[in-house]
Amino acid sequence: MAQYIQKPRGTMDVFPEEAAYWQKIERTARDVAARFGFGEIKTPTFEDINLFRRGVGEVTDVVQKEMYTFTDKDNRTFALRPEGTASVVRAIIEGGHCSDTMPLKLYYMINCFRYEKPQAGRSREFSQFGVEMFGTSDPSADASVIALAAMTLRELGITGVKLHINSIGCPACRPQYREALVEHFTAHKDELCDTCKERLNTNPLRILDCKSPVCSSFAAEAPKTLDHLCPECSAHFEALKAYLDAMGIEYVVDSKIVRGLDYYTKTVFEFIAEGIGAQSTVCGGGRYDGLMEQLGGPKTAGLGFGMGITRVILAMKECGVPVETVKCPVLYIAPMGEKAHAEALRIVEELRRAGLYAECDISGRSLKAQMKYADKLGAKYTLILGDTELETGRAQLKNMAESSQTEIELATIASMFLDK
Ligand code: ATP
Ligand code: MG
Repeated sequence: MAQYIQKPRGTMDVFPEEAAYWQKIERTARDVAARFGFGEIKTPTFEDINLFRRGVGEVTDVVQKEMYTFTDKDNRTFALRPEGTASVVRAIIEGGHCSDTMPLKLYYMINCFRYEKPQAGRSREFSQFGVEMFGTSDPSADASVIALAAMTLRELGITGVKLHINSIGCPACRPQYREALVEHFTAHKDELCDTCKERLNTNPLRILDCKSPVCSSFAAEAPKTLDHLCPECSAHFEALKAYLDAMGIEYVVDSKIVRGLDYYTKTVFEFIAEGIGAQSTVCGGGRYDGLMEQLGGPKTAGLGFGMGITRVILAMKECGVPVETVKCPVLYIAPMGEKAHAEALRIVEELRRAGLYAECDISGRSLKAQMKYADKLGAKYTLILGDTELETGRAQLKNMAESSQTEIELATIASMFLDK
């Protein structure tokens, strides 16, 4: 064989057996989102790079080093979207939807691109189910968005996933907290990992969720956001907890949850599935009340989450969730001769138009090979069509499981299967 071209590093091919998991997740997510009144939004795969490189606020890992960028033939610079939120906010502003009836509730199924070191649960192209809600700063909205994620994971049969919540404050209380944090980590500056040394200047909150043992030991002793919240943020967080309690949604308060993206305010949360490896956050999100304004729109509250599909699949497998991977044809027709082949195709076409899965030979196999193939496909019934059957209009329908035969009329075969 000639040398073949391989897929780019950190991307994947998905074959039908694995795609069955994707389909189950997408079906469930769409269904749950609809129950919460969310409609689907589609946005471009690539955007003006400045949408993600905002130059305001703190520098994120994503913007700093993870973005996939390219320059087109007109010398414009774009980025393959690293996430969905910024695009959705841009689309709302651009489409003039800021004055729509609020809250505005949108969901999406997208692929995202980040230049990361590929490993289990972390790839360069990955898919997300995400939701965004705009125009409400009430904590019951935070509780509803969290409930949507929890319901999706529950209905996928994932157990043992834990909800971690935290509040990282707002522009009124975060600066003081940030200062306290920088002071704490500066005392240990030389011992921090290289990335966190940099984060000390750019995004010190991110040091709190560094996975390196040394950094996390200092993080454990670091000042907690919850002790530095202003009265408004504090009341918001207390109300959120009360609503989650009322809905019977279990959570743990976790001061290490800060989220990777820079635009979060107040509520942040993650759903963590122990047992799927180091990349155990299946879903992360929070509130971002300043983002719409930052992107040139009117001041509008917002919140949402992103759920990583491949990590959800790992969690489903860990829980042994069954998915339907193979579909078996109701009927396999083995024709002998050209005329019979045309009749076989006619019947199969009729059954398929009626919504049934039916097969007939399309490879010119011998009768014996066809029967073997029908068995492999798991066909419920088989039918051999030859000259005699065509002449009499009758044939033997074989029930494969019972090895029994019944004579049927070819003219009514489709309606017979539809009645079954
Ligand atoms: P992490 O801490 O894992 O890097 P993040 O903070 O960068 O996550 P978000 O930007 O909030 O993640 O993305 C939301 C979700 O998308 C994550 O919780 C995860 O499930 C998934 N995700 C993020 N990056 C990747 C990736 N490189 N490969 C696969 N899934 C990913
Ligand atoms: Mg990341």
